[in-house]
Amino acid sequence: MTEVAQAPDKSETKARRISHWIGGRSVAGESGRSGPVYNPALGVQTGEVDFASAEEVGRAVASAREAFPAWRELSLSRRQELMFRIRELVHNRLGEIAKILTDEHGKVLSDAKGEVQRGLEVIEHACGIPTLLRGHFSEQASSGIDVYSIRQPLGVAAGITPFNFPAMVPMWMWAPALACGNTFILKPSEKDPSASIYVAELLKEAGLPDGVFNVVHGDKEAVDAILQHPDIDAVSFVGSTPIAKYIYTTGSAAGKRVQALGGAKNHMIVLPDADIGMAADAAVSAGYGSAGERCMAISAVVAVGDAADQLVDAIKERLPNVKVGPGTEPDSEMGPLITREHRDKVAAYIDSGRDQGATVVADGRETSPDGDGFFLGVSLLDNVTPEMDAYKDEIFGPVLSVVRAETYDDAVRMVNENPYGNGVAIFTRDGGAARQFQFEVEAGMVGINVPIPVPVAYYSFGGWKSSLFGDAHVYGPEGINFYTRGKVVTSRWPDPATSQVDLGFPQTR
Ligand code: NAD
Repeated sequence: MTEVAQAPDKSETKARRISHWIGGRSVAGESGRSGPVYNPALGVQTGEVDFASAEEVGRAVASAREAFPAWRELSLSRRQELMFRIRELVHNRLGEIAKILTDEHGKVLSDAKGEVQRGLEVIEHACGIPTLLRGHFSEQASSGIDVYSIRQPLGVAAGITPFNFPAMVPMWMWAPALACGNTFILKPSEKDPSASIYVAELLKEAGLPDGVFNVVHGDKEAVDAILQHPDIDAVSFVGSTPIAKYIYTTGSAAGKRVQALGGAKNHMIVLPDADIGMAADAAVSAGYGSAGERCMAISAVVAVGDAADQLVDAIKERLPNVKVGPGTEPDSEMGPLITREHRDKVAAYIDSGRDQGATVVADGRETSPDGDGFFLGVSLLDNVTPEMDAYKDEIFGPVLSVVRAETYDDAVRMVNENPYGNGVAIFTRDGGAARQFQFEVEAGMVGINVPIPVPVAYYSFGGWKSSLFGDAHVYGPEGINFYTRGKVVTSRWPDPATSQVDLGFPQTR
């Protein structure tokens, strides 16, 4: 049996109103539309979040537009100083932010702290903005002529973010966007919106001028208002593939720069020469961490040749030790799912897997904690094939599939034929095989004996194929490029004595 931690006391919770943040202050919604926010470990509503109308989004855009000229004029060293102050505040309040994440998302506190820490690394990278924005200079490109390149902010940037990383994914966007000199509007997930408001207050406390960072809550209506607003220059999106595609096509058609990161189906290939114990530890950690609600979660373990039986046994052996319970309990390792509906949808893949011919090695419904929380224990399917729904769909929950492949080539072909291309991993002791894999696999982020290869902040994060619409990955160098546009200056300070009329096309001489 999976161990179950004790549930917190339900009587401690009461529904709060969660409002927008515009022009440096909390602004109550006036649209008359709102949505419920839950504590998933308790299964009770704890908040009611205002949904912005197009008019309310317009007010946030006006505030960001008004703040832009002064913000972009601020010297790089002053912007850097502010980023350092923001870094310090987020670092000092990491525990408070993590607590909000656990309460609204459900992930265990240690994982929530890890999320904030990874977001903090992106803020730290953005502290280097004077270096990151350095241009190039070519002296004497032509006689008496120098050429140099500069990068300038776009204006107002917007970020639309998913429920599964309510603090980190917004940080991927606002930290580089602000450091580059843009003002920002965040539309966080309506399922766990409170962390954004807490962070908005921190940014104000750090000294960020009013209007530079705004938060509007809402659903499709607010998102569509962002996509259509003529005063928004760029849109970053992270979420599911159908919405990412919609954001990319609609935003681009409205003339905006758009990067839209979508869903995933991440494979972990285990070759017969791999250390099976290490591979099993990695599969359990990456498959069930954050209840599988990570875009980099391992969803399909591809066991090659005779690795399969040993690997399935080793994974199965580890499952009873995964402690499922409320994220606030120090010994919980896996919390609940985000909503009751999502939990039920995930659980249905266990049945569809069985009906379509997979072997159910572990059924998480049998080990879910009691109570009203949106819990589902860990589930393992073996003998899954690419035709099954459990393989084709991004389950986004604690249901791990083992797919058996005869050869390395079969395994790689399976990965490359999959429509998604976010993360992928290989477990092997063979350096040559790993190098060949890195060369030919069609995914944006590759792990070699690393199951969740989320790039460090000074590289960029992004997938291929249906996991990314647009050219730019987020944060790191591509994030800086995304939030700026280039300008090249050709300059001459001629000696008046040598000046003459020349109607020819400028030549380099
Ligand atoms: P989602 O696509 O349902 O929602 C993401 C955002 O889009 C939210 O802010 C939501 O309010 C908004 N939205 C939802 N429906 C919309 C609609 N019809 N029109 C306009 N806007 C809409 O995603 P989610 O369920 O919050 O997050 C989980 C998904 O995000 C998974 O597919 C996961 O793989 C993906 N994800 C991807 C990455 C990545 O880096 N590629 C990272 C995290 C999450």
